[in-house]
Amino acid sequence: MLVLKFGGTSVGTSQAVSQLISVIKEPSHAGKVGVIVVSALSGITDALINAAKNAVVERGSSGAVAEALAGMKRRHLELAAAFLSGREQKAAGEEIENTFAELSRLLDGIALLGELSSRSMDSIVSYGERLSAPLIARFLCASGVSAEYLDSRQLIVTDNSYGAARVNTGKTYKKIKKNVNAGILYVASGFVARAEDGSVTTLGRGGSDLTAALYGAALDAETVEIWTDVDGILTADPKLVKNAFRIDSLSYEEAMELSHFGAKVLHPPTVRPALEKGIPIVVKNTFNPSCPGTRISKDAERGEYPIRGISSLSRVTLVCLQGSGMVGVAGFSSRLFGALARRKISVILISQASSEYSICVAVDPKSGDDAAAALKEEFSREIAEGAVDAPTVEKDFAVIAVVGGQMKHVSGISGKVFHALGRNGINVAAIAQGSSELNISLVINRSNEAKALNSIHEAFFHATVRSVNLFLMGAGLIGGTLLEQIANHRKTLADKDKININLIGVANDKWMLFDREGLDPLKARALVNEEGGAPKTGKAGKNKKAAKSEITLESKNNEQNNLEPVNLKTFFKTMVSYNLPNACFCDCTANLEISALYAKILSASIPVVTPNKRANSGKLEYYQQLTGFSRGRGIPYLYETTV
Ligand code: ADP
Ligand code: ASP
Ligand code: MG
Repeated sequence: MLVLKFGGTSVGTSQAVSQLISVIKEPSHAGKVGVIVVSALSGITDALINAAKNAVVERGSSGAVAEALAGMKRRHLELAAAFLSGREQKAAGEEIENTFAELSRLLDGIALLGELSSRSMDSIVSYGERLSAPLIARFLCASGVSAEYLDSRQLIVTDNSYGAARVNTGKTYKKIKKNVNAGILYVASGFVARAEDGSVTTLGRGGSDLTAALYGAALDAETVEIWTDVDGILTADPKLVKNAFRIDSLSYEEAMELSHFGAKVLHPPTVRPALEKGIPIVVKNTFNPSCPGTRISKDAERGEYPIRGISSLSRVTLVCLQGSGMVGVAGFSSRLFGALARRKISVILISQASSEYSICVAVDPKSGDDAAAALKEEFSREIAEGAVDAPTVEKDFAVIAVVGGQMKHVSGISGKVFHALGRNGINVAAIAQGSSELNISLVINRSNEAKALNSIHEAFFHATVRSVNLFLMGAGLIGGTLLEQIANHRKTLADKDKININLIGVANDKWMLFDREGLDPLKARALVNEEGGAPKTGKAGKNKKAAKSEITLESKNNEQNNLEPVNLKTFFKTMVSYNLPNACFCDCTANLEISALYAKILSASIPVVTPNKRANSGKLEYYQQLTGFSRGRGIPYLYETTV
């Protein structure tokens, strides 16, 4: 028997639902699926949360709240109309109307009280799954697959930590076994549950994955399949790392580490019920069902890379305690963690210097100040005596986790990680490696999150391919020829030499142009050089009106619109603010003002490549500063070049 779970995007549109139905009808699934768990339609949970918050502000479900409710209702009715007709459509329509009327009354009640408790919030957000699951059951029936709606609130028992309730697996498994019959295909609501006092609870954002694992474990399913909108668990978040690719196979422990440290594709607590029963979890793409996906099991195959993947938590706060009074004192850490535990503060990462002079913990930003207060209270005597400093709280950090079971006993992994970060000028604030050697976690400044992920990803997964994100000054004879060479040799460079050159910014003495997704070198050259007519925008254009009609170049509109009058300061600022990995500044001018910027560029950890001799034929001190700086930080300064 199989348990399948379909996420929000897999039930969010009529095309997605058609895909879902065809997956269920596939020969590999037909007659084998016991339970289908579904999430709310994509975006509905967020919309419900906003409606609840707005109801309190608005003091009523009129205005924005009523509009939001009407929009949500319309989406459900439209979906019903796409799959149902006649009496079935009427019945579904009435059910949707009634559910929204109930929801509207609930929101009115909250507005009247002027207060939104976490208990009420759970009741409200539960409506997303309470609407989607019965609808999907109706759609399946209409398509010839007999199915029954199952309300998971009746079967999943939790405590009453609203927002992310903890499941009582013993009671839950018993109820599921008792109420779920073999031979029936159920469509169960994900995410929702009930506390023992009868109140509605939810399992935390993304919690429908856990619902599926609970049904799977209770019913001893053969496999739990998580159907989503990507090909499986990828080597990194595809929204942040363009080159991320599918991981074939993962151990339960690796999957837990990746999801715990931010891989949203799997809700972190999902793995445990499956692991305890030894049930494999397969993550698959609803929109690409023939792709094998990612299999999570105890007999995961060895991968071809030393690590499996990289994930990240975008927001953490670092709370640090330091002082000589901590050195060699037994029980210090236990008091520290005890103090945090008493306030129910969960610690994401711990880092302690071997000198025992300092301990840093990474916590959720919501708990940062509370954690500092807990430590201040616990160590008040030591702080008063000066043996320990008052705890510090630093915000805006991210945690990057490099995960893989094969890292164990392999040397050089952390070296590679730090080299990739160092080369890109990313400072590491704290490091932790579990003794299981399954995970190396690094705390870095939040602004460097994507850059760090991409740098590490390239170092491990594309070690043979090098990418350069190029910013070019000068598009005349030398710069222009370079652009032509890049355009002409792009394919050979990529295929033979494994170098990808992405032109991100280009400027001459009049214009500059940027696109962080990459520019076409020849079009960019033509645009800044005003070939084929004056550019469309900006003050430097000769005749703006004429320019519009004169443009004969077949260039992308956005490239043309991005064209702006050159400004060295802005060029430098933009280059730094993009914060791209493997950035490179190339100066093909003979301009003194530009060469005077090299020190600033190198100190932003961006290599400088130049045939411009100005920097090296001026003051000796400046030349020494540049080469010395480059040597000291390992940021290339390549000047004896004709590019
Ligand atoms: P669903 O609605 O199906 O539950 P989610 O949005 O919760 O889907 O999870 C899928 C998303 O997770 C992907 O679209 C992707 O953007 C994101 N994601 C983050 N990290 C990873 C990763 N390592 N592998 C795959 N997807 C990831
Ligand atoms: N609908 C819920 C959410 O958006 C649960 C889920 O999708 O898994 O978080
Ligand atoms: Mg999800």
